[in-house]
Amino acid sequence: MTDHYHPDLLAPFLALPQGDKIQADLDQLRIWDFDGSSTNQAPGHDSDIYLRPAAIFKDPFRGGNNILVLAECYNNDGTPNRTNYRHHAAKIMEQAKDVQPWFGLEQEYTLFSMDGTPYGWPKGGFPGPQGPYYCGAGAGKVFARDLIEAHYRACLYAGINISGINAEVMPSQWEFQVGPCEGISMGDHLWMARYLLVRIAEQWGIKVSFHPKPLQGDWNGAGCHTNYSTKEMREPGGMKAIEAAIEKLSKRHNEHIAVYGEDNDLRLTGRHETGHIGTFTSGVANRGASIRIPRHVGAQGYGYLEDRRPASNIDPYRVTGIIVETTCLL
Ligand code: ADP
Ligand code: MN
Ligand code: MN
Ligand code: MN
Repeated sequence: MTDHYHPDLLAPFLALPQGDKIQADLDQLRIWDFDGSSTNQAPGHDSDIYLRPAAIFKDPFRGGNNILVLAECYNNDGTPNRTNYRHHAAKIMEQAKDVQPWFGLEQEYTLFSMDGTPYGWPKGGFPGPQGPYYCGAGAGKVFARDLIEAHYRACLYAGINISGINAEVMPSQWEFQVGPCEGISMGDHLWMARYLLVRIAEQWGIKVSFHPKPLQGDWNGAGCHTNYSTKEMREPGGMKAIEAAIEKLSKRHNEHIAVYGEDNDLRLTGRHETGHIGTFTSGVANRGASIRIPRHVGAQGYGYLEDRRPASNIDPYRVTGIIVETTCLL
């Protein structure tokens, strides 16, 4: 696979219509089951796992009335499968629905060629050091923009609440933002956006890595910054509620880190725009802190906070769930 533009691959995504409504309803869909022993979700002698439909998106690959259905996994006895973090998160979101929790996730990820080289990097060597790549433009600075554009179009068509895209600090690392989404829908939209990315990258012969530190050395890691607000935080004077939430978060740093992604210790080193995994810090406009209050939020006195600790490989249900639990339910 050579590293160049693929206009023939991008064209169908550019042609997707925008703004069509989903023509299906959750209760029209039946419960299905699959072989959980093939996915390490069940033992062979009791392998059937139930799929309960949870969210519907439009299918950008087949078009028309075709849909993609996100489902929750349940065991034979009716208990949620151990891989099903949505079940618990949905309960938390239900309990906290009066505060109207909103989230915006910044999903960072890294592209690799089939041979294991970061996509577009010189084979057996390295590109120039970090600096000219973040939000960059131009050949040699950004890689696979056509794939990124295809993904953005596919998300818009599917009905995912995608809000932006940017090239990241490390070359061939990218980010998309999904949100603001309320409550449990945040996890649904992020998982479907990830699925579309991996499916589309397949067409390009590109591998997507969600590892939080895909390359050792002086290269930025990949996170999933979690922006969060409640109704109170979004209204004038909301800074008091933001500060109260930060105070509560500071008391449960370790509990949060435990569900903020695997191998996150390789990323949260206190360098490369991260806070150290062992300490909780916060500050306005501080990209080396655990929690950052964006500058415009500090200036206007209300808005939202950014939890910078979550890694790129998080389960968004676990992260949004514990944030609401810590700040609203304890
Ligand atoms: P950064 O400056 O950290 O790179 P981004 O612009 O990439 O920030 O992402 C900001 C995210 O915050 C977006 O997903 C956006 O939808 C989300 N966001 C904006 N306002 C709110 C809010 N009030 N509550 C929660 N999330 C919000
Ligand atoms: Mn961002
Ligand atoms: Mn980023
Ligand atoms: Mn951020």
